[in-house]
Order: sequence, then C-alpha cells, then structure tokens
Amino acid sequence: MIANKGVIFIEYAIIRSGYNLTMPIRLLSTEVASQIAAGEVVERPASVVKELVENALDAGAHSISVTVAEAGRSLIEVADDGCGIPSKELPLAVSRHATSKLASADDLFSITTLGFRGEALASIGSVSRLTLTSRIAGESSGTRILVEGGQNGKVTPAGASPGTVVRVEDLFYNVPARKKFLKSDLTERRVIDTFLSRYALAYPGVRFKLTEDGKQRLGTAGDDDRRAVLASLYGVEVAKAMLEVLAEDDGLKLSGFISPTSLTRSNRREMTFFINGRWIQDIPLNAALTQAYRTLLMVGRYPLTAIFLEVEPAAVDVNVHPAKAEVRFREQDRVFGFVQRAVRRALLAYAPVHSLPSRGLWGHSPDGSQSASLDWSMAADLDNRPVVSPDGPQASTPAPRLTNVPLLRLIGQVGTTYLVAEGPDGLYLIDQHAAHERVLFEKLMQQYERRNIPAQTLLEPASLTLSPAQAALLDGQLEWLHSFGFQVEPFGPNTYQVRAMPTLFTGSDAAAALRALVEDFEEDETPLQEELQARIAARVCKRLAVKAGQPLSMEEQRTLLTDLENCDSPRTCPHGRPTMVHLSVDMLERQFGRKGAR
Ligand code: ADP
Ligand code: MG
Repeated sequence: MIANKGVIFIEYAIIRSGYNLTMPIRLLSTEVASQIAAGEVVERPASVVKELVENALDAGAHSISVTVAEAGRSLIEVADDGCGIPSKELPLAVSRHATSKLASADDLFSITTLGFRGEALASIGSVSRLTLTSRIAGESSGTRILVEGGQNGKVTPAGASPGTVVRVEDLFYNVPARKKFLKSDLTERRVIDTFLSRYALAYPGVRFKLTEDGKQRLGTAGDDDRRAVLASLYGVEVAKAMLEVLAEDDGLKLSGFISPTSLTRSNRREMTFFINGRWIQDIPLNAALTQAYRTLLMVGRYPLTAIFLEVEPAAVDVNVHPAKAEVRFREQDRVFGFVQRAVRRALLAYAPVHSLPSRGLWGHSPDGSQSASLDWSMAADLDNRPVVSPDGPQASTPAPRLTNVPLLRLIGQVGTTYLVAEGPDGLYLIDQHAAHERVLFEKLMQQYERRNIPAQTLLEPASLTLSPAQAALLDGQLEWLHSFGFQVEPFGPNTYQVRAMPTLFTGSDAAAALRALVEDFEEDETPLQEELQARIAARVCKRLAVKAGQPLSMEEQRTLLTDLENCDSPRTCPHGRPTMVHLSVDMLERQFGRKGAR
C-alpha cells in the first residue's frame, strides 16, 4: 500500500511539472492552429450551412440551393447565382482573415454584410475536403480550387454557371474528436432545417431549396411574399392566421409576423428574431416578446414569431460571438421597450383578448358560446362494454374484482374538470384528464401487448403541415406510430395525412394530436424506438385524453369512473400524478368540528 502511494505521488509530480520539462513553448503549426480556430466557427454541419448560405446572400444571390447527405456528415453543397469570385482571388477566399467585406476596424461598426471575419471558408477547409468553384459574370467559364485539411490545391479551370458552388465533403474527417460530439442524424438535420427555414423567412426575395439525401425538404419561390414562405413552412392555415406587425421609432424599424393568442406552441423554438438580416438566437429580446404576450397565453405556451428588426449598424455590435449568434445593443432598454410595445399593440389591435382563465376552466368563450369542442367520444368504449347501464356503474360492473378504489357513486362534474363521487369512506374528487389518461393508457398497453390495436380508418383523412424540422422528426417516427395504430403518410412537402387511428381514440382531433406528439418529440429527442413502449403510450394518451374544461355528459362521466375502477393502478396517471383526491369521512368530520365536539 505504502509503495503504491509512493508511485502515485511520483507520477503526480511528473505530471505537475511535466509541461515545462518535456514540451517547451513553441508556435502551433498552422494546421493545428487553424483547426483550433475552426472549432469556434464550425461546430456542426449546420454551422457550415450557415456560413455558406450567408456568403451566398452576401454575394447577392437570388437563388440558393443546399444539398446535404447523411445529415451533412458526408456532403454539404451550397450553390448560388451570386456575384462569384474572380479566379485570381480563389486562393485568397479560402485563406484565413481574407475578406472582401471589411477594410479597417472602423468598418466593424458599419457592417451591412452577414460575414466580415474572413474566416469561414478557411475554417471549413481545415476540417474537411472543400471544393470551391466559381464564375463571375462576364467570364465564359469558371475556376476551381480544392482545399483538403487546410492544404490548398492549385486553381484549375472548371465548367460552371455564373455564381459559386461550395462543396464540403467528409466534414471533420481529420478531427475525430469533433465528430464524436455530433448528435444523431435526426438532430443534426433538424438544426440544418431550422436554420434554412429561418433564412427563407428572412429573405423572401431569394429562392431557397434544401435537398436532404435526395429528398426535397424545403422550397420557396423567391417572389418576395413572406406570407407564402410562412405557408410553406407552417402550412396555409397558420400562415393565414399570423398577424403582421410594423412599427418604427427613431432609427428602429420592426416588421414581421406574430401568432395570435389562439396559435401557440409548447416551446420557444418558433420564436424567431432577425436583427439587420441576421438570425440572432440568444437575445434578451425574446423576453420582450414573451412580455408582450404576458397574461394572454397559458403557462407553458409560446407564440410563433418571425420578427425582423432593423437598427443603424452603429447602434449594434455584431462582433461579440464567433458565430455571430449574439449581438449587443448600445441602447438595450430602448430597443427592448420598443419591441415589447410594438408586439403588444399589434396583438391587442388584432385579437379580441379572451379572458383565459374562464375559457380554460369552463369551456365557454366570454360570449357564452361553447368553445371547447367535445372531441372526446366514448362510443368506442361503449361498444366494448355493452353492459354499462345508465343507472350507474354499480349495476353493471361484473363480479367484483380487486381494485384499488372502492365502487363509487357519481355525483357530478365540477368546474368541467373534476368528477365528484361518493364512496363508502368519504368523498372523491377525480381529475377527469388524469383519470382518462390512466384509462386510455392501460387499454392501449393491453392492446399493444396482445399485438392487436384495433384501428379505424378516418372518413376524411386529417392533414397537417409541419415545419421542415418537425417533418424530419416525424419521418423517423412514422413506422413506430404505425405499430401503435396510427396510419400517417407523407402528403406533399412537410405535409402529412392521418388516415387511421386507434379505435380507442375515435372522435379525437387526429391532426391536433399528431401535432402535439411532434412537439413532444421536439422536447425530448430520445428516438421513440429506443424508449420503453410504456413511455410512448403514456405520451400518446396524455395528448388524446379528455382535457380539463371539457364538459362531459352524465353517461361519459359514469363510463370514465367505471373504467377507472377497472384499472390496475387507478390512483395515478401514467406520469405519476394523482388521479383523485380523497376526503375521508373522518377528515370531513374533523373539518366541521364534529369529531371531538361529541
Ligand atoms: P467572410 O464572409 O467573413 O468575408 P469567408 O471566409 O466566408 O469570409 O469568405 C471569404 C471571401 O470569399 C468573402 O469575403 C467573399 O469575398 C468570398 N466569397 C465567399 N463565398 C462567396 C460566394 N458564395 N460568392 C461570392 N464570393 C464569396
Ligand atoms: Mg462568410
């Protein structure tokens, strides 16, 4: 033991002083230095797409076509019809700190281009095999240069149409450590898709096309119609519903689209902000947006926005982040207030503001009409359970079976959210959503285990359009969804049709449920196939269970109660929350001072 300690101690001493003894200070080779620098700019395939697309936009392209294979691991190609690069400048273009966009440090405060660091092509070239082919207007043919792991090849003539094509192959082939940090193809593709969708929105005058593994994912017309781009990203319905915002105030200009309060998502992913044509992800301005919506949205719901802010270049510092994903404003508070007011004003002007709490709880809109549609039908359940009699569950429940809840006498529904029932030992309040989740979950799991999930073809297939990123996610889940009785098929770009769904869920809004499921996938990127079946079933049931605020007929309430009594674990929903609260006779007596008083 003592000897061992000694050994450890000696090794430790060598490590501590080792860097001086064995490695004198020296300059890094250009190759290593550029790989390190590349790390700041090129983090993943999407960063390559971003840099190349930004270059194309800076070159004044009207048409940008992005081709990706294996989520960008094996190929990323960006072709544009921009101004092109003169052949004698090709080697410079791929050199570090070589740019045509900036001459002096002062220019940093009047930047109107997306690029300016002169680093992207050099960085990408140092971690991949890059081919740059370009032809300027007026020349009859193009030229080409190859860069492999940072080594520039010779400039050679090449056939090309006017513009530039950058082909990036085998990204990170020489930096295996980077490669290991890449996420699943699904995730990497999603980041690319999201990025390109954002730029398509920001530059409606440019024709964008994205092809992934031979499949076209995105295509815009480039006819300056931003609402049309919205439609190709989110579907016509969403595009129609979006509200247009326009505001100006002393050097600040805001334009774009925001969703009405009735159109929300479960995460912040569709909140997009552009500042001077640059997509900025990490900004306090998102808080200004959220504030504008405050009290108008339910907790945990977020708007869809595509906001374009223009400020004088001098009022904003874009050079604070290597990938330029952050900016700093000279007058942060003023910009914040401007954005918040502009959005709030637009919201209030367009949308009559519903009072959410009463709507959510009672299922009525303020004018008294029924707004929560009763999309939950128990018809299918009733077919499976012909013995249910209107007199109450007790009468029809077959031979008493072992359950964790006693037989209950239904009293009614309160707040269109809870069922009230009486049992031998007191009062029960049952959360209708949690209870229904439990019931659906156990039924679905039973059917799944028997490998027999009865499905019903929809009379009219429900269709929905997703963002390209969501579509890419859903594509990977189709097969699995099928095994659970959902027949979902691609139906045009980023559009899907639900043709059949499990009988268990008959009457539910299939498209809404599918959209909700996709949002779940976005939240939790574990591929479904790798999850426990039970967890997946729980997700599905959560989405399709009756909601709080949904009025239920007496018949439906009774069936729910009977079904719950028949569950194996009736006291919790599949996510572990309680389905019921029990107020025991004993507790009631104490509360009313009957106990002890006697
Ligand atoms: P930056 O964009 O910061 O200037 P890059 O390394 O991305 O640096 O590009 C270097 C230079 O190559 C640019 O300044 C530009 O002159 C030229 N260039 C790059 N891509 C294109 C393109 N698609 N079309 C025309 N010129 C380009
Ligand atoms: Mg650039």
